[in-house]
Order: sequence, then C-alpha cells, then structure tokens
Amino acid sequence: MNPLIWWIWQIRWPITLLTISLPINAQVNWTSPESLDLTRKRVSTGSGRAVVVTANPLASDAALMTLKQGGTAMDAVITAQTVLTVVEPQSSGLGGGAFLLYWDVKTKRLYALDGRETASSHAKEDAWVKSDGSVFSWLEASRSLSAIGVPGTTALLWEGHQRFGRLPWRANLNKSIKIAKDGFMPSPRFLRSISLAQLIGINHSSSFKALYLPDGSLPSQKALFRNPILAATLTRIAEGGANEFYRGETAKKLLIDLNLNQTDNNPVQTITADDLANYQVYEREPLCRSYRSWRVCTFPPPSGGGVSILQSLGIFEVLSESKFSETNTWHWHLLAESMRFGDADRSHWVGDPIDWPVPLNGLISDSYIKQRAQLIKFDKTIFSPLPGEPKGSESLDLASQPRTTGGGTTHLVVVDIEGNVASYTGSVETVFGSRRISEGMVLNNQLTDFSFASSISGKPIANRIGPKKRPMSSMAPVIVFKNGRPVLAIGSPGGWLIPHYITTALIRTLDLSLPPKEVVSRKHLSVRPNETVLEIGSEWSGSHSYIRKSLKRLGHQIKWSRFSSGLALIYRQKGIWHGAADPRREGKVTSLP
Ligand code: GLU
Repeated sequence: MNPLIWWIWQIRWPITLLTISLPINAQVNWTSPESLDLTRKRVSTGSGRAVVVTANPLASDAALMTLKQGGTAMDAVITAQTVLTVVEPQSSGLGGGAFLLYWDVKTKRLYALDGRETASSHAKEDAWVKSDGSVFSWLEASRSLSAIGVPGTTALLWEGHQRFGRLPWRANLNKSIKIAKDGFMPSPRFLRSISLAQLIGINHSSSFKALYLPDGSLPSQKALFRNPILAATLTRIAEGGANEFYRGETAKKLLIDLNLNQTDNNPVQTITADDLANYQVYEREPLCRSYRSWRVCTFPPPSGGGVSILQSLGIFEVLSESKFSETNTWHWHLLAESMRFGDADRSHWVGDPIDWPVPLNGLISDSYIKQRAQLIKFDKTIFSPLPGEPKGSESLDLASQPRTTGGGTTHLVVVDIEGNVASYTGSVETVFGSRRISEGMVLNNQLTDFSFASSISGKPIANRIGPKKRPMSSMAPVIVFKNGRPVLAIGSPGGWLIPHYITTALIRTLDLSLPPKEVVSRKHLSVRPNETVLEIGSEWSGSHSYIRKSLKRLGHQIKWSRFSSGLALIYRQKGIWHGAADPRREGKVTSLP
C-alpha cells in the first residue's frame, strides 16, 4: 500500500474511536487534541508598560514577579517556562523544545533562537518504517523511545539568559522549585490532560502512572499536587545551568531511564550521551515580510508555520481589495484559500535546512506570492492546491508529506518596561509528550513531527528523519513592527492549525484594530484537505449564517469543530501594551502599570 494512504488509515481509526466523557466539565476527544475548557467564558486581559501572557496563572504571576524584581523579558520567559514545566507539563517543559523570537532594545535587533528537539546522530531514515515496509501508526510511534528528541528547552533558556538576561539564572528558577516542592492546586485542564493521556495510552510508562495517577486515579482537585523529584532536578539545573542538564547528573539519569525502558528483544535507537553533550541552540535569521504597512516577523525553518503565515497574509493582501471585513463572504473565501496554498507549500518544501536548502526567499518573494494568488479562483474553492515552484527549488524533486497531529504546546509573550519583547512557543508535542517521565520531567515525542515515510514513489520528503535533524514544526512565534518598532507579539499552540489561528488573528488585529480581547475570543475558520472547518458556536450558525451558505455555494465542504487554540497576544496602542489570553485554555495576563 502507498505509505501515505497507509499512514492516514493507521491514524484515523484510533482517533475516531478515542472519545470519553469525564466528570471534569469537558469531553476529552482526540479530534481536539488538547483538552479544552468548555466552561470558561471570561477572557483574561491586562494593560500596561510591561505585560505577560502565558497559558497558566501561576506562570504569569511568577513571570510578573521577575519583571518587578528588575528582570528583563528574557528573565521572565525563563521563570514562566520553568514554572510551566511544573504546572502545565502536558504542554511544554525542560524535556521538550522551543522557539524564541526576541526583540532586544539594546542592540535594536530581532533574534530567532532555535531550541527544537533534535534526532540522534545515529537516527536512520527508516526509523518509522517496519520490517514489512509499512510505517508505524502514530499512536505506536508517539510512545516509542525513538520519538524522544534531544530536548532543547534548557539550552535555549540558558543561551537566552547569557545574551539577554539580567537577574541571576538561579533566581529565575526559584519559583518553579518552590511550586514543585510545595505543590499547586491542579487545574481542570491539567486533570483533563491526564485523562487524555490515559486515552492515548500510558501502559508503557510506569513513571507516568506513578506521578500523575497515584493509586490508579486522577490526583485530587482539592489537594496540592507535588513533584519533589522535579524540584530536585530544577535545583540542580539552577546550580549547574545547561551543563548540568546536558552533561551532568540529569543527563546521566535520563540515559539510564531511557535504557531501562528498552525491551531486550526489540531495542530501538534512542538518544546517546554524545547527542546530549553536543546539543546546540541555533541562532537563525528571522523570517520577515510586509503586510500592508506592517512588517511581520516570524520563525524560519525548521518552522513551516512561519512560512505559511507569511504566504497566507501575502496572498490575502494581493487578493482582498480592501481591509478585511468579518461580514464579507469573499474575504472568508480568500482567507481559506490563502491558508490552503500556505499549507500546500509548507508540507512540500519545508524541512530542516541542514538536509537541503529550503527555497525560502523564493517562497515568500513578491513575484511568487502574486503568482500563487493568481491561481485562486473567486467563484470556486480549490480543495487541495498543489505546491508551487518557487525560485530556488529547481534542483529539488520532492514529495509532499501528510499533515501531522499535535497537542502538547504552549505560547507565551512578554514585554518588559524597557521594551524588550519575547514571543516564545514551547512544546513536548503530544499531550504529556511520550508520556514517559525522567527526573520528574515529561519527555517529548517531537520526532513524530518528522514524516513517517521518508519518500513517496521514489521521491524524498523534505521533512524526513535523519541524523541530527530537527523536525518541521508548525510553531510560529510572531512579532510585528511598525516604523521599526515592535507593536504586536502573538503565537499559539494547536499543531498543524497554528498558522491558521495566527493568520486570522493578525488580520483581525491589523486590519480591524480589534482589541486583543476580541481577537482571542472570536471564532476560528480553518481548512483541512477537502474541508473548510468552522468553530462550533460561531456566528456563522446565527446572524452571519449567510457567510456559511455563500461559502457552500463556492464549493466549500463545511464542517464544524471545536478548536483548542491558545493564543497569547500583546498589542501596543498609544504607548500602552494591551494583552489577552485565549479563553479556550486557562491563560492569564499580568501587567505593570
Ligand atoms: N509538535 C507540534 C509542532 O511543533 C506542535 C503541537 C501543538 O501545537 O500542540 O508543530
């Protein structure tokens, strides 16, 4: 069977079968990979000269405290990410990876630091292919030791601290150590995420069960949840920095844990001491393009999300004669189409640039964007556009990879009093990553973001696994500039849909000047191959149902879905920053006047 069809077949069945109702306010359902809080209505907002938005109140409070103590936005990111490792372990942590976009006021420069998980230097191209030639099912792969990439988060935070931090490294970790030791009250989403992990499968992980399902059941909602082993790990990292994580006791224990979990009759390739010791954070060139009078900057490959956002914005700008209007059917049609074209290119041309050159300049050049826009029809949707042929791709003969799943990611944004701005997306890939725990930390399964098949019909796939490669990501932290100054920072979790959420949010903010509160709460439109997906509860079923009907007339196959975006947004107007956290998750905004 064609590996692509096999892969889709493998993944679809378990996904549709996995649905369970829980006594904690929401249904956990694999069609919406992160468990979302259906009961949450209030949108957290805040304004001031310094603003923090993270996915968890404890992390936002701790990061604000860091700013109050004179820390920079970078210090606040370190505080927030280490606290999230404790309180939102289903989404990100030191056992995962991250991308940081950072505007540094002193040098007046935008930096892109890549702390993405990396495959072992021993990784084989056929890591996800079985002996009979079929590829692993996603469920199988996501719990395999082979899915765990060398975590990059600690190295990224350390590197960021060396460049942009002011408070002592240790000071930035104190709060996370205290919370891990003294405990925190489990949030509804934390508990639902444990249930979701159970649903995906935890039988391979006694360490997960011991920590998150004590006595075989969910932790009590009414008692403090402690993670003393993680407190000890964080304490060691507070003392010894990145060196402790990659070469010290934490590294040794991680390798022991991985090896203990090998099965004698079927050992798999996993990361080695050298892989850990040699992990590197890459400084990359931010990817920027204009949208009307703004300059939108985001993350380059291995992010495919960034390319996709810039392409979609560009195509939309070429085609829309006026600024976006929520009540204009054409605009929704054009937005959906521009997302489809963005998706077609990222799944074809983007992979880790260490393998072959991604035709990046070609993909976002004005002439190419215009050429792609001309293919879009005003009277008919094009369900599955083919990838284009950007300049620089002439010598590449590749196959497209199928969409990936996702679920365990967080986004945070910080602006400090001096005007440093951080837009940071961290991830462990699936909910609780591989569901394997080492030293109290959730270990990622990020290598399932590689294409499972390395080629289709003899043509290689850009995002295939290989030694020291970083898997293509949808994560796309964004910072927007006007007249050379940052005016907006945004990002979101949400797997493949991340660029769809962010593109729409950017258009709503920049074209409509909507306040962040409105932008994060308005309903999403997204696209899948052959379908246009509207968020359940949207106006498209009520006062604006004419839009849905018109889209249908243009051939859109309309589907309804819940979305679990986690937008974190700050927007500067008249010198004051305004922030909002997506009401679909548990985020909070904190600020200094
Ligand atoms: N692993 C995914 C990526 O890097 C993100 C998953 C998610 O957003 O939940 O693109």
